[in-house]
Parts: sequence; C-alpha cells; structure tokens
Amino acid sequence: MSDVYQAIANSAVGKKVFSAMNLPIPVTLERHEPGEVSFVKGKVLVGAAAGSQAAAAVLATLKTAPQASVVTLSGAAAEAEINAAAAAAGETVTGYTPDREDGEKFKALVFDATGIRNTAELRAIWDFFNPVIRKLDKCGRIVVIGRTPQKADLAQRIAQRGLVGLVKSLGKEVKKGAIANLVYVDDGAESQLASPLQFFLSPKAAYVSGQQVHVGSGDFQAASFNWQQPLAGKTALVTGAARGIGAAIANVLARDGAKVIVLDIPPMADDLKQVADRIGGIALEADITAADAPKQISDTARAHGGLDIIVHNAGVTRDKTMAGMPDKFWDMVIDINIGSEERINQQLLDDKTLNDGGRVVCVSSISGIAGNMGQTNYATSKAAVIGMVQGMVPVLAERGITINAVAPGFIETQMTAAIPFAIREAGRRMNSMNQGGQPVDVAETISFFASPASQGVSGNVVRVCGQSLIGA
Ligand code: NAD
Repeated sequence: MSDVYQAIANSAVGKKVFSAMNLPIPVTLERHEPGEVSFVKGKVLVGAAAGSQAAAAVLATLKTAPQASVVTLSGAAAEAEINAAAAAAGETVTGYTPDREDGEKFKALVFDATGIRNTAELRAIWDFFNPVIRKLDKCGRIVVIGRTPQKADLAQRIAQRGLVGLVKSLGKEVKKGAIANLVYVDDGAESQLASPLQFFLSPKAAYVSGQQVHVGSGDFQAASFNWQQPLAGKTALVTGAARGIGAAIANVLARDGAKVIVLDIPPMADDLKQVADRIGGIALEADITAADAPKQISDTARAHGGLDIIVHNAGVTRDKTMAGMPDKFWDMVIDINIGSEERINQQLLDDKTLNDGGRVVCVSSISGIAGNMGQTNYATSKAAVIGMVQGMVPVLAERGITINAVAPGFIETQMTAAIPFAIREAGRRMNSMNQGGQPVDVAETISFFASPASQGVSGNVVRVCGQSLIGA
C-alpha cells in the first residue's frame, strides 16, 4: 500500500511546507538492495567500557565488512583494549578525537558495555555517546552490547538492565531513519555475536529499533561462513505465503539461498503458484487448521529431506469487542493463529521431520504485547505465540533447534489496508520512523533468526515496528 503522506512530505515543495508547519517528514529508509553487500558501509565508531569482553568479536565481525572502516575514540579508557582486539582480528583502527565542528559522520556507533559492573560505571556510556551522538549519519546504526542481566550478580544486573532504557531512548532521539538496538551476551558466548551484529548493523534492520536480543552459547563458526547466502542448502516452509508478509518471507528466504515450500489455503492457489514460480519453490495447498494438515506438512517435509526452517506466518484477524464477538470469531482466530502451530510443531517433532539444528520462527504481533481494543481474540492468540516460543526453548535446544518470534507493528499489507483511515494513519505515524514498515522488514528479521549463524539466539521476541509507541 502506498503512503501518500510520505510521498508528499518527501517532494521538493512538500519538504518546505511540512518543515514550516513542523510536521514530521518520514525519511526514506535505506533497505538492502539485491546484489549489494548486506553489511554496514561507512565509518563505524567502536567504543567500550573498561574491562569489556566483546570487542574481539565486534572487531572480527567488522573485519568481514568490506565497505566499512573502523574508528575508536583517542584517549578513551578502553582504547588499548580495542586496539589489541583489532590487532588480533587483523583489522585496522584509526583514532578519532571528537570535535563538534569537524563535520564527521559515522554510519554506526558500537558500544561494548559488557565491562559495566555497577551503576557508577554506567558513566562510561555518557563518555562514549555524548561527544559523538550528533555525528550519527542518516539511517545510522547504534548497537550496545551488554551482559545478560539474569546471569549477573546483583550490582551488575541492576546496571546492565539499565541498558534497555538507554537504547530505547537513543532510538527515539537519533531520528532520520537511524536505529538503536541492544544485544545481551552470556559470559563466554561472545563468539556467537556475529549474526546479531551483522543484522543490526545492516540495512536489513531498517524498521527494527529499541529492541533487545539475547545471545547464549552456540557452536556457530564464523570463519568460512557465506553471509551473502546464509541459507544455502537449507529447506524452509512458510505458511500463509500467497501474499503479504508471507510472500515477502518466501522471497527473502529464497534470496538467501533456501529451497522454500510455500503453503496457503486452496482458494489462494493461483497467488501461491505465482510466489512459488517466482522463487523456484514448491507450492503446498493446505488449510493449517484441517485435521490432516500437520501430517500433510510433515510428509511433504520428509519428501524434501526434512525442514531446516519453519515459519509460522499464517494468521487472521476477526475484530470485535468481547461483548459483541461471536464464538466462531474467537475459535477461528485462536485455532489459526496458535492452535494449528502447536499441532504442526508437535507432528514435526514426533516424526523428526524438523531437522537437528533447525529453526522455528513465529509471527506474533505488537497486539499480543500491548493488547488492542476489539482484538481480544487476536491479542490472546499472539501473546500465546510468545508463550510457545518461551516454553519450547529448552525442549528444542536438546536437538540444537532454536525458536524465536517477530512481533510486527504497522506493516503495509492488505491486512492493514482494511483498517479505517484515521486508525490506519495513527498506526503509521506513531513510531520513531513516522511511517509503516514493509513486509520485507519482517522477512529480513525472520531470515536473521533462520540463519545457521543465529545458533546462540533462541527464545527472543523482536518487534518489527519502527519503535511503535504502542506497548513500548
Ligand atoms: P494477509 O492476510 O495479507 O496474509 C495472511 C495469509 O495467511 C493469507 O495468504 C491467508 O490466505 C493465509 N491463511 C489464513 N488462514 C490460513 C489457514 N487456515 N491456512 C493456511 N493459510 C492461511 O496478512 P499479513 O498482513 O501478511 O500477515 C501475516 C502475519 O503477520 C499474520 O500472522 C499476522 O497476524 C501478522 N501481523 C501482521 C501485521 C500487519 O501490520 N500486517 C502486524 C502484526 C502481525
């Protein structure tokens, strides 16, 4: 769906008029273009609190960015540590002394806060960000790396939890399409940071801001990984893939190298076939609520060597307030949006047609986080999806399988096109980007979770909502 307001605001005349009236001008977000390097391009300023331990992983990851140059603050407490990490990674780092007037711009600011052990040491954050935050470029990236609070001692836990407020506020301050995100890493799991760093520093995270991801231990080896085709050799199944977000997920997973089985209901067969033909995939007509659907999906998976990735995307809304909701609306939404997913997962696990080291990615919604008037059925189902993600982590971990969810905010699809105008406009503008997201933004986040590189990433819910004010 086109956003007329954004188009006018970005025209030559519109820019002048909207600025004069103090109206927000939604920036045209930089997104990943096919054939381009999918990582950060430009200068990356790296800083750290004294005693931090993620710098080696950060520098090793940046070493794989062919179009990035690394800079660090001259004279900062952790300068020597960063230089040592850079030397170990074979990366060249330039020293930089901030000057308000020098016109310097950075594409990304990365701050390793893992060394912060108490609230007094939070001061290191101000020392790093205060002199350089204005120098973040349009569509810039901020990544803060912290220690998992739940696994820290009390003083460190308190201080590290503070980082959530930091990135959420930075995300609201930076504007111009820039984003800020937080990665909590377990002590000793730093080698698993490559995948979230690649994602949050790239154009693929265009509509993801104010979010946190937890990274635990894993056996992913970054050394010879092909970041341009991260899903090469993998087989994926995407439900609800005939249109909207599901079709975008199928496109992105295929672009990233996966063989994709696309599933949708029989009445969508023509659209489904078009998606399958476009990506060289396989179309599977099925209603996921049908009694035989889990078996049909499992048998199809087996015929293709088992699934490495399943994306539970199919979902519906049937909005009514609780008082006016017919029971069939309740039953239908719960069964499509969560019940069928539970049954399919169980069948795939029983039949071992979800391969070891597999990925389960679910589509929740900010409605499941914040609740929404007229959506008791939908919000219940989408909150239950989060419960399923959290509950299945330990069960799946035994076989090296991860499970995560995305929670889209306002995404431009036929589902949101059906929302009445005034509510639709509010949904579009009430976020840090002043615009709706695109289906591809959700798809990129799903591909990040689906990657073999995300072995240490399980049990997360990442909102793809441009930092929506709803439920924030
Ligand atoms: P959409 O209506 O455009 O597409 C949903 C697809 O799911 C359709 O092709 C539909 O035929 C299919 N589907 C529905 N019931 C099915 C069934 N029983 N079996 C198989 N397929 C079935 O919706 P969308 O906007 O692309 O949404 C995709 C997912 O994202 C949904 O889970 C939705 O709840 C979620 N979501 C969307 C938004 C948004 O802003 N669009 C926001 C939050 C969450």
